Amino acid sequence: MASTAGGHARICLGCWDQMKMPIPIRGPFAIPFRAFGITRSKMNPNICTICERSFRRVKKQQHITAAATILFADIRGFTELSDRINPAILGEIVSTFHDQCAQAIWAHDGIVNKQMGDGLMAIFNFPIRTERHAAAAIAAAIDIQRRCVEVLERLGSRGGELPDKAIGVGVGIHSGDVEIGEFSSFRSDFTAIGGTVNLTSRLESQAAAGEILVSAEAAAAAPDLVADAETRSLTLKGIEHPVSACVLRMHA
Ligand SMILES: [Zn+2]
Repeated sequence: MASTAGGHARICLGCWDQMKMPIPIRGPFAIPFRAFGITRSKMNPNICTICERSFRRVKKQQHITAAATILFADIRGFTELSDRINPAILGEIVSTFHDQCAQAIWAHDGIVNKQMGDGLMAIFNFPIRTERHAAAAIAAAIDIQRRCVEVLERLGSRGGELPDKAIGVGVGIHSGDVEIGEFSSFRSDFTAIGGTVNLTSRLESQAAAGEILVSAEAAAAAPDLVADAETRSLTLKGIEHPVSACVLRMHA
């Protein structure tokens, strides 16, 4: 594992972990690569754009199955907030949210794979490998909550008429096999799809402001981090049986 746990890597950690290929992304050796359009990825500054664009060609496969932990996060009550708050401040809240989440995710070697308005999806254990990927995602989520609570409350308080409850972030985390690849003919970046991803998204939709909902599978892989957590049984849309999740609550 080439991970520097959020530090500044000289070579792409993804290319190294996946293919043992040293692709320079910082320093003088990175300059000729830049001429060929190989630069640092926006998904994580410690991986390169080969990991995004040439994934299929390098792997010679349309997609692969990989064990990963998926994290979804969004700003709870955002729609309600949008109607009440000055659009400039709203924009600031969203960009601050994305910045803070990215810092937390990168610090634990995850990638910000998708950003969707007031929400995002992160992948842990691909392309940067980390054996304790569930623990990495949970640690990132705790970090997200810590960072966002302070910043969002400060920003929100400048917006005037706030909803009764404070602005907060909800997070869902689940581990399992995902299909990773390029699933669009006009977008060349990779993503993860499958049941694990769907369940994570549904979990996240049930998380209240300040909550991290961790699936039983992810919790089992990181028992030390969820030791004091309450367990909640959830009925999730499109999933037949109730799903049990550990609830980490960062603040009252
Ligand atoms: Zn790379």
